[in-house]
Amino acid sequence: MLRRSAAFRAANPCAGTAEMAERMLQFVRLQQAQPEKRKAGQRREDFGEIYREFAAEAASAQASRCSQCGVPFCSVHCPLNNDIPDWLKLTAEGRLEEAYEVSAATNTFPEICGRICPQDRLCEGNCVIEKDFSSVTIGSVEKYITDTAWQNGWVTPPTPRVELPHSIGILGAGPAGLAVAERLRRRGWQVHVYDRYDRVGGLLIYGIPNFKLEKEVVLRRWHQFEQGGIHFHLNCAVGVDVSLAALREKHDAIFIGTGVYQARDIAVPGSSLPGIVPALDYLTTSNRQNLGDAVPAFDSGALDAKGKRVVVIGGGDTAMDCLRTAVRQGAASVTCLYRRDKANMPGSMREVAHAEEEGVRFEWLAAPEAFVGGDKVEGVRAVRMHLGLPDAGGRQQVSAIAGSGFVEPCDLAIKALGFDAEDLPGMFGEPALAVTKWGTLKVGKDFQTALPGVFAGGDIVRGASLVVWAIRDGRDAADQIDAFVRNRVMAAE
Ligand code: FAD
Ligand code: SF4
Ligand code: SF4
Repeated sequence: MLRRSAAFRAANPCAGTAEMAERMLQFVRLQQAQPEKRKAGQRREDFGEIYREFAAEAASAQASRCSQCGVPFCSVHCPLNNDIPDWLKLTAEGRLEEAYEVSAATNTFPEICGRICPQDRLCEGNCVIEKDFSSVTIGSVEKYITDTAWQNGWVTPPTPRVELPHSIGILGAGPAGLAVAERLRRRGWQVHVYDRYDRVGGLLIYGIPNFKLEKEVVLRRWHQFEQGGIHFHLNCAVGVDVSLAALREKHDAIFIGTGVYQARDIAVPGSSLPGIVPALDYLTTSNRQNLGDAVPAFDSGALDAKGKRVVVIGGGDTAMDCLRTAVRQGAASVTCLYRRDKANMPGSMREVAHAEEEGVRFEWLAAPEAFVGGDKVEGVRAVRMHLGLPDAGGRQQVSAIAGSGFVEPCDLAIKALGFDAEDLPGMFGEPALAVTKWGTLKVGKDFQTALPGVFAGGDIVRGASLVVWAIRDGRDAADQIDAFVRNRVMAAE
Protein backbone atom coordinates (compact mmCIF):
# COMPACT_ATOMS: atom_id res chain seq x y z
CA MET A 1 0.00 0.00 0.00
CA LEU A 2 1.36 3.44 -0.95
CA ARG A 3 1.94 5.87 1.88
CA ARG A 4 3.19 9.45 1.78
CA SER A 5 6.97 9.54 1.47
CA ALA A 6 9.21 10.37 4.41
CA ALA A 7 11.00 12.88 2.15
CA PHE A 8 7.72 14.67 1.50
CA ARG A 9 6.87 14.82 5.19
CA ALA A 10 10.36 16.16 5.97
CA ALA A 11 10.02 18.88 3.32
CA ASN A 12 6.49 19.67 4.47
CA PRO A 13 6.56 19.82 8.24
CA CYS A 14 2.98 21.10 8.35
CA ALA A 15 1.69 17.88 6.75
CA GLY A 16 -1.25 16.60 8.77
CA THR A 17 -1.46 19.79 10.85
CA ALA A 18 -4.11 22.48 11.21
CA GLU A 19 -2.02 24.71 8.95
CA MET A 20 -2.26 22.18 6.15
CA ALA A 21 -5.96 21.68 6.79
CA GLU A 22 -6.39 25.42 6.37
CA ARG A 23 -4.60 25.43 3.02
CA MET A 24 -5.87 22.15 1.66
CA LEU A 25 -9.14 20.22 2.26
CA GLN A 26 -11.05 22.90 0.36
CA PHE A 27 -13.41 20.35 -1.14
CA VAL A 28 -15.98 21.15 1.54
CA ARG A 29 -16.16 24.78 0.36
CA LEU A 30 -15.09 24.66 -3.26
CA GLN A 31 -16.94 22.85 -6.05
CA GLN A 32 -15.14 20.71 -8.58
CA ALA A 33 -14.42 22.68 -11.75
CA GLN A 34 -12.64 21.48 -14.88
CA PRO A 35 -10.97 24.03 -17.15
CA GLU A 36 -13.50 25.68 -19.45
CA LYS A 37 -14.90 23.21 -21.97
CA ARG A 38 -15.56 24.68 -25.40
CA LYS A 39 -19.20 24.64 -26.50
CA ALA A 40 -20.18 21.58 -28.52
CA GLY A 41 -21.22 23.68 -31.54
CA GLN A 42 -17.79 25.31 -31.64
CA ARG A 43 -15.98 21.98 -31.10
CA ARG A 44 -17.74 20.45 -34.10
CA GLU A 45 -16.12 23.07 -36.35
CA ASP A 46 -12.46 22.28 -35.72
CA PHE A 47 -10.01 19.67 -34.38
CA GLY A 48 -8.68 21.78 -31.49
CA GLU A 49 -8.57 20.29 -27.98
CA ILE A 50 -11.91 20.64 -26.25
CA TYR A 51 -10.68 22.00 -22.89
CA ARG A 52 -9.02 25.37 -22.51
CA GLU A 53 -6.07 25.88 -20.15
CA PHE A 54 -6.61 26.31 -16.43
CA ALA A 55 -5.84 29.85 -15.24
CA ALA A 56 -3.17 29.80 -12.50
CA GLU A 57 -5.63 30.70 -9.72
CA ALA A 58 -8.13 28.08 -10.83
CA ALA A 59 -5.47 25.35 -10.94
CA SER A 60 -4.22 26.30 -7.50
CA ALA A 61 -7.79 26.41 -6.10
CA GLN A 62 -8.74 23.05 -7.59
CA ALA A 63 -5.52 21.47 -6.29
CA SER A 64 -6.39 22.75 -2.81
CA ARG A 65 -9.54 20.58 -2.79
CA CYS A 66 -7.33 17.53 -2.10
CA SER A 67 -7.67 16.16 1.42
CA GLN A 68 -4.04 14.87 1.45
CA CYS A 69 -4.98 11.30 2.27
CA GLY A 70 -2.45 9.30 4.29
CA VAL A 71 -3.08 6.37 1.95
CA PRO A 72 -3.88 8.08 -1.36
CA PHE A 73 -6.13 5.79 -3.41
CA CYS A 74 -5.67 8.09 -6.40
CA SER A 75 -1.97 7.12 -6.48
CA VAL A 76 -2.71 3.46 -5.85
CA HIS A 77 -4.94 3.40 -8.94
CA CYS A 78 -2.61 5.44 -11.14
CA PRO A 79 -0.56 2.92 -13.18
CA LEU A 80 2.52 5.08 -12.56
CA ASN A 81 1.76 5.47 -8.84
CA ASN A 82 2.27 9.19 -9.27
CA ASP A 83 2.77 11.19 -6.07
CA ILE A 84 -0.52 12.96 -6.71
CA PRO A 85 -1.17 14.54 -3.28
CA ASP A 86 2.38 15.88 -3.23
CA TRP A 87 2.13 17.73 -6.54
CA LEU A 88 -1.40 18.89 -5.73
CA LYS A 89 -0.19 20.48 -2.52
CA LEU A 90 2.77 22.13 -4.24
CA THR A 91 0.41 23.49 -6.92
CA ALA A 92 -1.98 24.81 -4.27
CA GLU A 93 1.00 26.66 -2.77
CA GLY A 94 2.07 28.07 -6.14
CA ARG A 95 5.35 26.07 -6.04
CA LEU A 96 4.96 24.95 -9.65
CA GLU A 97 8.55 24.18 -10.54
CA GLU A 98 8.74 21.78 -7.60
CA ALA A 99 5.34 20.36 -8.54
CA TYR A 100 6.72 19.69 -12.02
CA GLU A 101 9.80 17.96 -10.63
CA VAL A 102 7.71 15.67 -8.44
CA SER A 103 5.33 14.92 -11.30
CA ALA A 104 8.11 14.26 -13.84
CA ALA A 105 9.95 11.96 -11.43
CA THR A 106 7.41 9.18 -12.04
CA ASN A 107 5.96 10.06 -15.46
CA THR A 108 7.81 10.56 -18.76
CA PHE A 109 4.86 12.43 -20.33
CA PRO A 110 2.67 13.97 -17.60
CA GLU A 111 1.14 16.51 -20.00
CA ILE A 112 0.01 13.66 -22.28
CA CYS A 113 -1.47 11.53 -19.48
CA GLY A 114 -3.17 14.62 -18.05
CA ARG A 115 -4.93 14.98 -21.40
CA ILE A 116 -5.81 11.42 -22.40
CA CYS A 117 -5.80 9.03 -19.45
CA PRO A 118 -9.31 7.75 -18.71
CA GLN A 119 -9.12 9.42 -15.28
CA ASP A 120 -12.69 8.42 -14.47
CA ARG A 121 -11.49 4.79 -14.38
CA LEU A 122 -8.07 5.46 -12.77
CA CYS A 123 -6.93 8.22 -10.41
CA GLU A 124 -10.03 10.42 -10.25
CA GLY A 125 -12.43 7.49 -10.17
CA ASN A 126 -10.72 6.39 -6.95
CA CYS A 127 -10.35 9.77 -5.27
CA VAL A 128 -11.93 9.44 -1.82
CA ILE A 129 -13.91 12.67 -2.10
CA GLU A 130 -15.47 11.47 -5.40
CA LYS A 131 -18.52 9.98 -3.71
CA ASP A 132 -19.97 13.06 -2.01
CA PHE A 133 -18.02 16.01 -3.36
CA SER A 134 -16.77 15.07 -6.87
CA SER A 135 -13.13 14.10 -7.26
CA VAL A 136 -10.15 16.41 -7.39
CA THR A 137 -9.48 17.31 -11.06
CA ILE A 138 -6.17 15.42 -11.03
CA GLY A 139 -5.68 15.06 -14.80
CA SER A 140 -6.27 18.74 -15.55
CA VAL A 141 -3.86 19.83 -12.82
CA GLU A 142 -1.22 17.38 -14.09
CA LYS A 143 -1.56 18.81 -17.60
CA TYR A 144 -1.43 22.36 -16.24
CA ILE A 145 1.77 21.71 -14.27
CA THR A 146 3.71 20.34 -17.25
CA ASP A 147 2.33 22.81 -19.80
CA THR A 148 3.50 25.54 -17.42
CA ALA A 149 6.88 23.81 -17.16
CA TRP A 150 7.21 23.87 -20.96
CA GLN A 151 6.29 27.57 -21.05
CA ASN A 152 8.95 28.33 -18.45
CA GLY A 153 11.72 26.20 -19.94
CA TRP A 154 11.83 23.75 -17.02
CA VAL A 155 11.47 20.70 -19.29
CA THR A 156 14.97 19.80 -20.39
CA PRO A 157 16.38 17.41 -23.03
CA PRO A 158 17.53 14.02 -21.70
CA THR A 159 21.18 14.92 -22.03
CA PRO A 160 23.34 12.67 -19.83
CA ARG A 161 26.18 13.88 -17.61
CA VAL A 162 28.45 11.06 -18.80
CA GLU A 163 28.43 9.24 -22.14
CA LEU A 164 28.61 5.45 -22.00
CA PRO A 165 29.78 3.40 -24.99
CA HIS A 166 27.09 0.74 -25.12
CA SER A 167 24.02 1.09 -27.28
CA ILE A 168 20.39 0.01 -27.08
CA GLY A 169 18.10 -0.46 -30.08
CA ILE A 170 14.43 0.38 -29.56
CA LEU A 171 11.84 -0.91 -32.03
CA GLY A 172 8.83 1.40 -32.12
CA ALA A 173 8.62 5.13 -31.29
CA GLY A 174 5.29 4.93 -29.44
CA PRO A 175 4.97 5.87 -25.77
CA ALA A 176 6.50 2.56 -24.59
CA GLY A 177 9.61 2.91 -26.79
CA LEU A 178 9.97 6.61 -26.02
CA ALA A 179 9.75 6.02 -22.26
CA VAL A 180 12.58 3.47 -22.54
CA ALA A 181 14.60 5.81 -24.75
CA GLU A 182 14.34 8.78 -22.39
CA ARG A 183 15.24 6.84 -19.26
CA LEU A 184 18.22 5.05 -20.80
CA ARG A 185 19.56 8.14 -22.52
CA ARG A 186 19.54 10.13 -19.26
CA ARG A 187 21.76 7.38 -17.85
CA GLY A 188 24.27 7.84 -20.66
CA TRP A 189 23.58 4.90 -23.00
CA GLN A 190 23.61 5.41 -26.79
CA VAL A 191 19.97 5.08 -27.80
CA HIS A 192 18.70 4.31 -31.32
CA VAL A 193 14.95 4.20 -32.04
CA TYR A 194 13.63 2.53 -35.23
CA ASP A 195 10.10 3.15 -36.50
CA ARG A 196 8.27 2.34 -39.72
CA TYR A 197 6.38 5.63 -39.57
CA ASP A 198 7.79 8.97 -40.72
CA ARG A 199 7.08 10.68 -37.39
CA VAL A 200 7.77 9.86 -33.76
CA GLY A 201 4.89 9.09 -31.36
CA GLY A 202 3.14 5.93 -32.63
CA LEU A 203 -0.59 6.09 -31.87
CA LEU A 204 -0.08 9.43 -30.10
CA ILE A 205 0.47 10.90 -33.57
CA TYR A 206 -1.46 8.70 -36.00
CA GLY A 207 -4.20 7.12 -33.85
CA ILE A 208 -5.42 9.59 -31.22
CA PRO A 209 -7.17 12.63 -32.78
CA ASN A 210 -6.16 16.25 -32.21
CA PHE A 211 -9.25 17.10 -30.20
CA LYS A 212 -7.89 14.83 -27.44
CA LEU A 213 -4.18 15.49 -27.98
CA GLU A 214 -2.85 18.27 -30.16
CA LYS A 215 0.13 17.02 -32.12
CA GLU A 216 2.44 19.87 -31.11
CA VAL A 217 2.45 18.35 -27.61
CA VAL A 218 4.04 15.18 -29.04
CA LEU A 219 6.26 16.88 -31.62
CA ARG A 220 7.95 19.12 -29.02
CA ARG A 221 8.94 16.00 -27.04
CA TRP A 222 10.38 14.40 -30.21
CA HIS A 223 12.54 17.47 -30.91
CA GLN A 224 13.77 17.59 -27.32
CA PHE A 225 14.69 13.91 -27.40
CA GLU A 226 16.76 14.58 -30.52
CA GLN A 227 18.46 17.48 -28.75
CA GLY A 228 19.28 15.08 -25.93
CA GLY A 229 21.10 12.78 -28.35
CA ILE A 230 18.52 10.06 -29.03
CA HIS A 231 18.91 8.85 -32.63
CA PHE A 232 15.71 8.22 -34.58
CA HIS A 233 15.73 6.00 -37.67
CA LEU A 234 12.35 6.68 -39.28
CA ASN A 235 10.69 5.06 -42.30
CA CYS A 236 12.50 1.94 -41.16
CA ALA A 237 10.31 -1.15 -40.80
CA VAL A 238 12.03 -3.85 -38.80
CA GLY A 239 11.57 -7.13 -40.65
CA VAL A 240 11.54 -5.30 -44.00
CA ASP A 241 14.25 -2.62 -44.11
CA VAL A 242 16.43 -4.13 -41.41
CA SER A 243 16.28 -7.49 -39.65
CA LEU A 244 15.98 -8.03 -35.92
CA ALA A 245 19.09 -10.23 -36.18
CA ALA A 246 21.10 -7.33 -37.64
CA LEU A 247 19.91 -5.00 -34.87
CA ARG A 248 20.84 -7.55 -32.22
CA GLU A 249 24.33 -7.67 -33.72
CA LYS A 250 24.58 -3.90 -33.68
CA HIS A 251 23.21 -3.16 -30.20
CA ASP A 252 23.90 -4.49 -26.71
CA ALA A 253 20.20 -4.87 -25.92
CA ILE A 254 16.91 -4.46 -27.76
CA PHE A 255 13.46 -3.27 -26.67
CA ILE A 256 10.40 -4.16 -28.76
CA GLY A 257 7.50 -1.71 -28.41
CA THR A 258 5.80 -2.14 -31.77
CA GLY A 259 2.19 -2.05 -30.55
CA VAL A 260 -0.79 -3.96 -31.95
CA TYR A 261 -2.08 -3.09 -35.42
CA GLN A 262 -4.03 -6.08 -36.76
CA ALA A 263 -7.62 -4.76 -36.96
CA ARG A 264 -10.29 -7.22 -35.84
CA ASP A 265 -12.88 -7.89 -38.53
CA ILE A 266 -16.53 -8.93 -38.65
CA ALA A 267 -17.31 -11.88 -40.86
CA VAL A 268 -20.77 -10.86 -42.09
CA PRO A 269 -22.16 -10.78 -45.66
CA GLY A 270 -21.26 -7.69 -47.69
CA SER A 271 -18.02 -6.98 -45.77
CA SER A 272 -16.07 -6.33 -48.98
CA LEU A 273 -18.33 -3.53 -50.28
CA PRO A 274 -16.54 -0.24 -50.98
CA GLY A 275 -17.19 2.32 -48.23
CA ILE A 276 -16.45 -0.08 -45.34
CA VAL A 277 -13.16 0.88 -43.72
CA PRO A 278 -11.05 -0.07 -40.69
CA ALA A 279 -10.95 2.53 -37.90
CA LEU A 280 -7.21 3.08 -37.88
CA ASP A 281 -7.05 3.73 -41.66
CA TYR A 282 -9.74 6.35 -41.17
CA LEU A 283 -8.11 8.00 -38.13
CA THR A 284 -4.58 7.92 -39.56
CA THR A 285 -5.81 9.60 -42.74
CA SER A 286 -7.53 12.31 -40.73
CA ASN A 287 -4.48 12.87 -38.52
CA ARG A 288 -2.18 13.08 -41.55
CA GLN A 289 -4.53 15.53 -43.21
CA ASN A 290 -4.50 17.68 -40.07
CA LEU A 291 -0.70 17.51 -40.04
CA GLY A 292 -0.68 18.95 -43.58
CA ASP A 293 0.40 15.78 -45.40
CA ALA A 294 -0.87 15.01 -48.91
CA VAL A 295 -3.38 12.19 -48.38
CA PRO A 296 -4.91 10.81 -51.61
CA ALA A 297 -7.44 8.65 -49.68
CA PHE A 298 -8.82 11.81 -48.09
CA ASP A 299 -8.64 13.99 -51.20
CA SER A 300 -10.51 11.36 -53.26
CA GLY A 301 -13.28 11.41 -50.63
CA ALA A 302 -12.87 7.70 -49.81
CA LEU A 303 -11.83 8.41 -46.22
CA ASP A 304 -13.56 11.76 -45.79
CA ALA A 305 -16.92 11.73 -43.96
CA LYS A 306 -18.06 15.10 -45.33
CA GLY A 307 -21.75 15.03 -46.26
CA LYS A 308 -22.01 11.28 -45.58
CA ARG A 309 -24.19 9.23 -43.29
CA VAL A 310 -21.61 7.52 -41.11
CA VAL A 311 -22.05 4.39 -39.00
CA VAL A 312 -19.30 3.33 -36.61
CA ILE A 313 -19.40 -0.24 -35.29
CA GLY A 314 -17.89 -0.71 -31.82
CA GLY A 315 -18.07 0.71 -28.31
CA GLY A 316 -14.47 1.42 -27.29
CA ASP A 317 -12.42 4.59 -27.27
CA THR A 318 -11.33 4.04 -30.88
CA ALA A 319 -15.01 4.02 -31.91
CA MET A 320 -15.57 7.27 -29.98
CA ASP A 321 -12.60 8.85 -31.78
CA CYS A 322 -14.01 7.83 -35.19
CA LEU A 323 -17.47 9.18 -34.34
CA ARG A 324 -16.14 12.51 -33.17
CA THR A 325 -13.77 12.80 -36.15
CA ALA A 326 -16.69 12.21 -38.55
CA VAL A 327 -18.66 14.97 -36.79
CA ARG A 328 -15.78 17.38 -37.35
CA GLN A 329 -15.39 16.39 -40.99
CA GLY A 330 -18.98 17.53 -41.59
CA ALA A 331 -20.81 14.18 -41.82
CA ALA A 332 -24.55 14.41 -42.54
CA SER A 333 -25.24 12.05 -39.63
CA VAL A 334 -23.10 9.99 -37.25
CA THR A 335 -24.39 6.85 -35.54
CA CYS A 336 -22.70 4.34 -33.23
CA LEU A 337 -23.85 0.71 -33.29
CA TYR A 338 -22.87 -1.19 -30.17
CA ARG A 339 -24.12 -4.62 -29.15
CA ARG A 340 -24.25 -3.99 -25.39
CA ASP A 341 -25.76 -1.06 -23.48
CA LYS A 342 -24.15 2.14 -22.27
CA ALA A 343 -23.34 0.75 -18.82
CA ASN A 344 -21.49 -2.20 -20.35
CA MET A 345 -19.43 -0.46 -22.98
CA PRO A 346 -15.64 -0.57 -22.77
CA GLY A 347 -15.08 3.11 -23.65
CA SER A 348 -14.65 5.90 -21.12
CA MET A 349 -17.98 7.46 -20.03
CA ARG A 350 -16.41 10.87 -20.44
CA GLU A 351 -15.75 10.20 -24.11
CA VAL A 352 -19.33 8.97 -24.62
CA ALA A 353 -20.61 12.17 -23.00
CA HIS A 354 -18.44 14.31 -25.30
CA ALA A 355 -19.72 12.39 -28.34
CA GLU A 356 -23.35 12.79 -27.27
CA GLU A 357 -22.89 16.53 -26.73
CA GLU A 358 -21.38 16.80 -30.22
CA GLY A 359 -24.44 15.22 -31.82
CA VAL A 360 -23.56 11.52 -32.14
CA ARG A 361 -26.55 9.15 -32.01
CA PHE A 362 -26.07 5.86 -30.16
CA GLU A 363 -27.91 2.68 -31.11
CA TRP A 364 -27.30 0.58 -28.00
CA LEU A 365 -27.92 -3.18 -27.98
CA ALA A 366 -27.62 -3.44 -31.76
CA ALA A 367 -25.27 -5.87 -33.53
CA PRO A 368 -24.45 -5.87 -37.25
CA GLU A 369 -25.64 -8.90 -39.25
CA ALA A 370 -24.71 -7.78 -42.77
CA PHE A 371 -23.69 -4.82 -44.91
CA VAL A 372 -26.17 -4.01 -47.65
CA GLY A 373 -25.62 -2.16 -50.92
CA GLY A 374 -25.01 -2.45 -54.66
CA ASP A 375 -21.65 -1.19 -55.90
CA LYS A 376 -20.96 0.43 -52.50
CA VAL A 377 -22.23 0.21 -48.94
CA GLU A 378 -25.71 1.65 -48.44
CA GLY A 379 -26.54 0.42 -44.95
CA VAL A 380 -25.82 -1.90 -42.05
CA ARG A 381 -28.44 -4.53 -41.29
CA ALA A 382 -28.50 -4.94 -37.51
CA VAL A 383 -30.41 -6.94 -34.95
CA ARG A 384 -31.46 -5.89 -31.46
CA MET A 385 -29.71 -7.66 -28.61
CA HIS A 386 -30.84 -8.80 -25.17
CA LEU A 387 -28.52 -8.57 -22.17
CA GLY A 388 -28.58 -11.81 -20.20
CA LEU A 389 -26.93 -13.19 -17.08
CA PRO A 390 -23.23 -12.58 -16.40
CA ASP A 391 -20.73 -15.22 -17.53
CA ALA A 392 -17.97 -16.71 -15.35
CA GLY A 393 -15.97 -13.50 -15.86
CA GLY A 394 -18.90 -11.39 -14.59
CA ARG A 395 -19.73 -9.87 -18.00
CA GLN A 396 -23.39 -9.94 -19.07
CA GLN A 397 -23.94 -12.15 -22.11
CA VAL A 398 -25.83 -10.88 -25.17
CA SER A 399 -28.25 -12.74 -27.42
CA ALA A 400 -30.08 -11.63 -30.56
CA ILE A 401 -33.82 -10.91 -30.33
CA ALA A 402 -35.56 -12.84 -33.12
CA GLY A 403 -37.36 -10.72 -35.72
CA SER A 404 -35.86 -7.43 -34.48
CA GLY A 405 -33.72 -6.68 -37.56
CA PHE A 406 -33.48 -3.17 -38.99
CA VAL A 407 -31.29 -1.37 -41.53
CA GLU A 408 -29.25 1.66 -40.52
CA PRO A 409 -28.57 3.56 -43.76
CA CYS A 410 -25.00 4.75 -44.37
CA ASP A 411 -22.50 5.86 -47.00
CA LEU A 412 -19.44 5.15 -44.84
CA ALA A 413 -19.18 2.27 -42.35
CA ILE A 414 -16.21 2.26 -39.96
CA LYS A 415 -15.20 -0.94 -38.19
CA ALA A 416 -13.78 -0.22 -34.72
CA LEU A 417 -13.70 -3.67 -33.17
CA GLY A 418 -10.27 -3.66 -31.57
CA PHE A 419 -6.79 -4.78 -32.49
CA ASP A 420 -4.66 -7.91 -32.28
CA ALA A 421 -0.93 -8.35 -32.56
CA GLU A 422 0.63 -8.93 -35.97
CA ASP A 423 2.64 -12.12 -36.46
CA LEU A 424 5.87 -10.77 -34.98
CA PRO A 425 7.94 -13.99 -35.05
CA GLY A 426 7.02 -14.31 -38.75
CA MET A 427 7.58 -10.61 -39.53
CA PHE A 428 10.95 -10.60 -37.78
CA GLY A 429 11.99 -14.05 -39.05
CA GLU A 430 12.55 -15.12 -35.43
CA PRO A 431 10.48 -18.25 -34.68
CA ALA A 432 12.06 -18.43 -31.21
CA LEU A 433 10.32 -15.19 -30.21
CA ALA A 434 7.63 -16.78 -28.01
CA VAL A 435 4.08 -15.41 -28.19
CA THR A 436 0.82 -15.96 -26.31
CA LYS A 437 -2.30 -17.39 -27.96
CA TRP A 438 -3.27 -13.79 -28.76
CA GLY A 439 0.01 -13.19 -30.60
CA THR A 440 1.34 -10.79 -27.94
CA LEU A 441 4.95 -11.28 -26.86
CA LYS A 442 5.68 -13.42 -23.83
CA VAL A 443 8.00 -11.71 -21.36
CA GLY A 444 9.35 -12.57 -17.93
CA LYS A 445 9.16 -10.37 -14.83
CA ASP A 446 12.28 -8.65 -16.14
CA PHE A 447 10.49 -7.79 -19.44
CA GLN A 448 12.87 -10.10 -21.32
CA THR A 449 11.43 -12.12 -24.21
CA ALA A 450 12.48 -15.64 -25.12
CA LEU A 451 15.46 -14.10 -26.97
CA PRO A 452 18.27 -13.15 -24.56
CA GLY A 453 18.87 -9.42 -24.41
CA VAL A 454 15.58 -8.67 -26.21
CA PHE A 455 13.03 -6.93 -23.99
CA ALA A 456 9.45 -5.87 -24.75
CA GLY A 457 6.57 -3.84 -23.31
CA GLY A 458 3.50 -1.74 -24.07
CA ASP A 459 0.64 -2.97 -26.26
CA ILE A 460 2.75 -5.70 -27.92
CA VAL A 461 2.89 -7.42 -24.51
CA ARG A 462 -0.41 -6.31 -22.91
CA GLY A 463 -2.62 -6.25 -26.00
CA ALA A 464 -4.45 -2.99 -26.82
CA SER A 465 -4.18 -0.98 -23.60
CA LEU A 466 -3.47 2.57 -22.50
CA VAL A 467 -0.72 5.13 -22.96
CA VAL A 468 -0.09 5.30 -19.22
CA TRP A 469 0.55 1.53 -19.10
CA ALA A 470 2.91 1.77 -22.08
CA ILE A 471 4.86 4.45 -20.20
CA ARG A 472 4.94 2.33 -17.06
CA ASP A 473 6.24 -0.68 -19.01
CA GLY A 474 8.82 1.46 -20.78
CA ARG A 475 10.19 2.91 -17.54
CA ASP A 476 10.32 -0.48 -15.79
CA ALA A 477 11.84 -2.21 -18.83
CA ALA A 478 14.49 0.54 -19.06
CA ASP A 479 15.61 -0.29 -15.50
CA GLN A 480 15.90 -3.95 -16.43
CA ILE A 481 17.81 -3.17 -19.64
CA ASP A 482 20.17 -0.90 -17.69
CA ALA A 483 20.85 -3.72 -15.22
CA PHE A 484 21.26 -6.26 -18.06
CA VAL A 485 23.86 -4.18 -19.89
CA ARG A 486 25.78 -3.39 -16.70
CA ASN A 487 25.70 -6.88 -15.19
CA ARG A 488 25.73 -9.16 -18.21
CA VAL A 489 27.17 -7.35 -21.23
CA MET A 490 29.82 -5.27 -19.44
CA ALA A 491 30.74 -8.10 -17.08
CA ALA A 492 31.37 -10.43 -20.03
CA GLU A 493 33.74 -7.98 -21.77
P1 FAD B 1 2.18 2.29 -30.29
O1 FAD B 1 1.74 3.61 -29.80
O2 FAD B 1 1.26 1.57 -31.19
O3 FAD B 1 3.56 2.50 -31.01
C1 FAD B 1 4.17 1.44 -31.72
C2 FAD B 1 5.14 1.99 -32.74
O4 FAD B 1 5.83 0.88 -33.32
C3 FAD B 1 4.47 2.73 -33.88
O5 FAD B 1 5.08 3.99 -34.06
C4 FAD B 1 4.68 1.83 -35.09
O6 FAD B 1 4.87 2.54 -36.29
C5 FAD B 1 5.97 1.11 -34.70
N1 FAD B 1 6.13 -0.17 -35.37
C6 FAD B 1 5.26 -1.20 -35.47
N2 FAD B 1 5.80 -2.21 -36.15
C7 FAD B 1 7.04 -1.82 -36.50
C8 FAD B 1 8.09 -2.44 -37.24
N3 FAD B 1 7.98 -3.65 -37.74
N4 FAD B 1 9.23 -1.73 -37.42
C9 FAD B 1 9.37 -0.48 -36.92
N5 FAD B 1 8.41 0.14 -36.23
C10 FAD B 1 7.26 -0.53 -36.01
N6 FAD B 1 -4.84 5.27 -24.72
C11 FAD B 1 -5.08 6.16 -23.73
O7 FAD B 1 -4.47 6.06 -22.66
N7 FAD B 1 -5.96 7.18 -23.89
C12 FAD B 1 -6.62 7.37 -25.07
O8 FAD B 1 -7.41 8.31 -25.20
C13 FAD B 1 -6.39 6.46 -26.14
N8 FAD B 1 -6.99 6.63 -27.33
C14 FAD B 1 -6.73 5.77 -28.33
C15 FAD B 1 -7.31 5.98 -29.57
C16 FAD B 1 -7.05 5.13 -30.61
C17 FAD B 1 -7.70 5.38 -31.94
C18 FAD B 1 -6.18 4.02 -30.42
C19 FAD B 1 -5.93 3.06 -31.55
C20 FAD B 1 -5.59 3.80 -29.21
C21 FAD B 1 -5.85 4.68 -28.16
N9 FAD B 1 -5.24 4.51 -26.91
C22 FAD B 1 -5.48 5.40 -25.91
C23 FAD B 1 -4.30 3.39 -26.67
C24 FAD B 1 -2.84 3.86 -26.78
O9 FAD B 1 -2.68 4.68 -27.91
C25 FAD B 1 -1.90 2.68 -26.81
O10 FAD B 1 -2.15 1.85 -25.69
C26 FAD B 1 -0.43 3.12 -26.76
O11 FAD B 1 -0.14 4.01 -27.81
C27 FAD B 1 0.50 1.90 -26.84
O12 FAD B 1 1.82 2.33 -26.91
P2 FAD B 1 2.95 1.45 -27.60
O13 FAD B 1 4.18 2.26 -27.52
O14 FAD B 1 2.94 0.10 -27.01
O15 FAD B 1 2.49 1.26 -29.12
FE1 SF4 C 1 -4.24 10.02 -13.41
FE2 SF4 C 1 -3.10 9.12 -15.63
FE3 SF4 C 1 -2.01 11.13 -14.35
FE4 SF4 C 1 -1.94 8.69 -13.29
S1 SF4 C 1 -0.93 9.36 -15.16
S2 SF4 C 1 -2.40 10.62 -12.23
S3 SF4 C 1 -3.91 7.87 -13.97
S4 SF4 C 1 -4.00 11.15 -15.33
FE1 SF4 D 1 -6.33 13.97 -2.69
FE2 SF4 D 1 -8.35 12.47 -3.71
FE3 SF4 D 1 -5.84 11.60 -3.78
FE4 SF4 D 1 -7.11 11.76 -1.43
S1 SF4 D 1 -7.62 10.40 -3.14
S2 SF4 D 1 -4.97 12.37 -1.87
S3 SF4 D 1 -8.35 13.59 -1.80
S4 SF4 D 1 -6.64 13.42 -4.83
